[in-house]
Amino acid sequence: MKKDILLISSTHGNEKIGLEVIEKLKKEKLDKYFDYIIANPKANKQDKRFLDKDLNRSYPGKKESKFYEEKVAYKNFQIAKKYKYVIDIHEAEKGINDFVIVARDSLNDKFPYKKINLKNILLWSDPKGSLCGEIDNAIELEFGMKGRNRVDVINKAYNILEMFLLNKIIRYSKSKKIYKVYGFLNDNKFVSRKVFKDFKKVNFKNESFYPLLVDQYLDLGIKCYKMNKIK
Ligand SMILES: [Zn+2]
Repeated sequence: MKKDILLISSTHGNEKIGLEVIEKLKKEKLDKYFDYIIANPKANKQDKRFLDKDLNRSYPGKKESKFYEEKVAYKNFQIAKKYKYVIDIHEAEKGINDFVIVARDSLNDKFPYKKINLKNILLWSDPKGSLCGEIDNAIELEFGMKGRNRVDVINKAYNILEMFLLNKIIRYSKSKKIYKVYGFLNDNKFVSRKVFKDFKKVNFKNESFYPLLVDQYLDLGIKCYKMNKIK
């Protein structure tokens, strides 16, 4: 029987946290509350972020395409849209925080954000093409791995999902902080001399912003993403 909740692992094939947490949830028999999919099976097997193009930029996908990820996106999208709640689980090697990503400009009442025991919610609507941007009852969870014990992070992710699945009330849910991701800072010699830290406000070239995922995407020429604090 189909359940209400769909957990998604391996949207990026080299991010194993989703599968690790799902295994742990299954061991505790909590899989009676959720179904799950491995979003990018080939990239997961090859331990790569993706094969042809970023799956998280490929939704809603295409039934026929020369790009593997566009076909997989189409398939996943048909599955995911049947669920009441969808949670896509990610990790960032250079990240130092855990947060919820909502791929829209504002929160809605289609997902019970308060039941996710994480303080920071990021509104991140651009670039397009994530599954969570196409379905308004879906979120992404991002776990930062830099300088942290992997087992601790997995346990934290497990606890967050266990509380959500068991519909536990979180008492301190009112203290949520909401940020909006509005752009990114290009990496260059000048930029690389300055120290940026995730979620620590900076003033740089007459612009003040909160950096996000510093050094995670240097290979794309991005020093960090930029955020405003909304609440
Ligand atoms: Zn990811």
